[in-house]
Amino acid sequence: MPATIFSKIIAGEIPCKKVYEDNQILAFHDIKPQAPVHVLIIPKVPIATIDDLEPADEALVGRLVLVAQRIARELGIAESGYRLVFNCRDHGGQEVHHIHLHLLGGRQLAWPPG
Ligand code: AMP
Repeated sequence: MPATIFSKIIAGEIPCKKVYEDNQILAFHDIKPQAPVHVLIIPKVPIATIDDLEPADEALVGRLVLVAQRIARELGIAESGYRLVFNCRDHGGQEVHHIHLHLLGGRQLAWPPG
């Protein structure tokens, strides 16, 4: 898989505003936030799209969601609510081909999306 901007962030070659890190996962504020809280939760292993996930990745994907839950609590948006989004490929609006979970909140979010 070609290196993405997120590989460079994981490697420390590009800075980020980190909110969480463990041996498997990194989370940081989106550089172009779409809501008052907009955090990206990413695995450290490079997986290009959600469509590339395999059964062995089941626990990792579960951990992404639980880390999002933890960050939402820490940033004070758990009670008001939030949205978790994986964009996949062109029609999903995916720009960075390293899977990432968007955590969005801090305001009323529109539904359905455009
Ligand atoms: P997606 O369209 O789902 O692939 O989302 C990619 C997200 O990465 C966008 O919301 C971008 O604003 C965000 N992004 C791109 N480069 C950076 C960066 N260097 N630091 C933080 N977020 C970034």
